[in-house]
Amino acid sequence: MDKLDDMPEDITNLIQGYRKFRKQYFSEPNSTFEDLVRLGQRPKILMIACSDSRVDPAIVMNCEPGELFVIRNVANLVPPFEDDLSYHGTSAALQFGICGLGIRHVILFGHTQCGGIQALLEQTPETCGHKGFIAKWMELAKPAHEAVLQYHADVSLEKKNTLCGQYSLINSLRNLKTFPWIAERVADGSLSLHAWNFDLNKGMIEVLDQEQNYFKELKEGNDTEEAENLQLRV
Ligand SMILES: [Zn+2]
Repeated sequence: MDKLDDMPEDITNLIQGYRKFRKQYFSEPNSTFEDLVRLGQRPKILMIACSDSRVDPAIVMNCEPGELFVIRNVANLVPPFEDDLSYHGTSAALQFGICGLGIRHVILFGHTQCGGIQALLEQTPETCGHKGFIAKWMELAKPAHEAVLQYHADVSLEKKNTLCGQYSLINSLRNLKTFPWIAERVADGSLSLHAWNFDLNKGMIEVLDQEQNYFKELKEGNDTEEAENLQLRV
């Protein structure tokens, strides 16, 4: 077994965090975790976020264990419903959350400066010397890339990244509705779909107005305020 003294610094930092976590959640009787173990998890919110280390939804939203059911993948993409025998990790987690746990809200959680979106915009060659996973996965956001090329060709690369991420959220919202058990729940009002974008520069979340295709700043109390954003062309 590893001795703590022999651990590299990266890992010892993790272990210090783990100690704090245990002290916070397991040192007192009747802790949050006792209920979560006894009653099981019952989150009402499912978030789909990017794997990017800066955008952990539980940290950004200051959530407690048990509050959020989180799916993370490159560029927080949702594939369309495909009834085949492939390995669909994101779809499986969606099905478990929505059909198994009774999730009431699905929040797509995009962010600015996304590396996955950047790879799509720049057509970055695959890392590790192999063609494969990233480019194939990012094909899901192709409609977003096409919208940026068509409507926003003159803006800076950084702005293109932001816009492409926002169009991609709209595309993922559409894909969510291709899952029959999502469409049914949205239709009967038991499930709501949301698209939020986290601006890393401003430290601000912007929310998609799904009727106007416009991102507005998220305010406390669920109010939103118009930010200086373009109306997206869909
Ligand atoms: Zn990202």
